[in-house]
Amino acid sequence: MQEKKGIAILGSTGSIGTQALDVIEAYPAYFELQVLTAGKNADLLIEQAKKFQPNSVVITDETQYQKVKDALWSEDIHVYAGQEALCQVVESNEVHTVLTALVGYAGLKPTIHAIEAGKTIALANKETLVVAGELITKLAREKAVNIYPVDSEHSAIFQCLVGEFQNPIEKIYLTASGGPFRGFTYEQLQNVSLEQALKHPNWSMGAKITIDSASLMNKGLEVIEAKWLFGLEPDQIDVIVHPQSIVHSLVQFEDGSMKAQMGLPDMKLPIQFALTYPARFKTDFPRFNFMDYPQLTFEQPDRKVFKNLDLAYRAMADQGTAACALNAANEEAVAAYLDRKISFVEIAQLNEYCMQNVVNILHPKYEDYVATDAKARAFIQAEILNKQRV
Ligand code: NAD
Ligand code: MG
Repeated sequence: MQEKKGIAILGSTGSIGTQALDVIEAYPAYFELQVLTAGKNADLLIEQAKKFQPNSVVITDETQYQKVKDALWSEDIHVYAGQEALCQVVESNEVHTVLTALVGYAGLKPTIHAIEAGKTIALANKETLVVAGELITKLAREKAVNIYPVDSEHSAIFQCLVGEFQNPIEKIYLTASGGPFRGFTYEQLQNVSLEQALKHPNWSMGAKITIDSASLMNKGLEVIEAKWLFGLEPDQIDVIVHPQSIVHSLVQFEDGSMKAQMGLPDMKLPIQFALTYPARFKTDFPRFNFMDYPQLTFEQPDRKVFKNLDLAYRAMADQGTAACALNAANEEAVAAYLDRKISFVEIAQLNEYCMQNVVNILHPKYEDYVATDAKARAFIQAEILNKQRV
């Protein structure tokens, strides 16, 4: 009998994490769940642990440790707390693949540990590649570790490349839904509410990525993610708005041929493909019906109104720690926006201001990323405090 694949899910209580558990539950003969982790949601982590009986769980919020420990005392499950514990559990011998489904910069360090331990990475946490793509891809090459994309656009590109790995890519097109504010003028964008921003037209996701999708920062982060995953130059990556979210992205080869990957928007498919590649497992996910979508449309993104996309291209061109600074600024700005401390358009303003003010370090080492992340966060926090005082 084939050995089961040991899976660690970092961020199992989130949008990607819970969908990944659905996928794993559907193939009990193929997957063995080894590790579950959560940031703060102790109740859901406990429920998941009781159901899936992993070897270990981590709650990174240490104030919740006792609660999780007490709830699982009669189970044969190791319980750990804190960010550092994430780095240790991914190294366990039983783990084959680490699904990085936690949000933000917090994904970087455990991903480095997982690669160093030779684990296959199923990467949902795009921030890791945005912050430190140069370091991560170099390390993965050295350790002969595969990084399989979970992000739907990158999974689409990856699926188009199967069988084509010897053929150079001329260009890729990442599709974007355009988010809830597609077609808005800058004036209209100044007055949008948090509730509007949190309503994505096609996808149900965590709060941070939902705001990033509305501000087009998500597409900017994905452009940088694609550069590192597929070894592309900035001018080989284009973004096209496709409001129906059916064409998940496209590759153009050197003979001019274009391949696209299509399907209904459902993250379970890219999650599953990252865990089962090169196989495709049969599913009962709803199938696409052409007559439900008689028209698939495409348009240019509005880079003047949605400035984050250009900031990401700028950070990519600047290289070094520029994208790390942009990511940190954006994480802080989005958190402040979710706390109703700043307006929607101020997210991009703060991001730009941070890029102008935080020094770019070329050829960074790990410590340079850590220092840049901290500087950019402090810079944005000070800016937000200043705004509140005025
Ligand atoms: P989410 O907010 O729904 O879930 C995040 C998970 O990470 C939760 O389990 C949470 O407890 C945990 N977490 C949060 N902060 C943490 C920290 N500091 N340390 C450790 N754990 C922490 O987010 P999501 O929508 O599932 O997104 C997860 C990642 O996947 C993000 O990087 C996102 O960009 C990417 N992604 C998500 C989708 C989607 O459809 N949701 C699609 C593509 C890519
Ligand atoms: Mg995406």
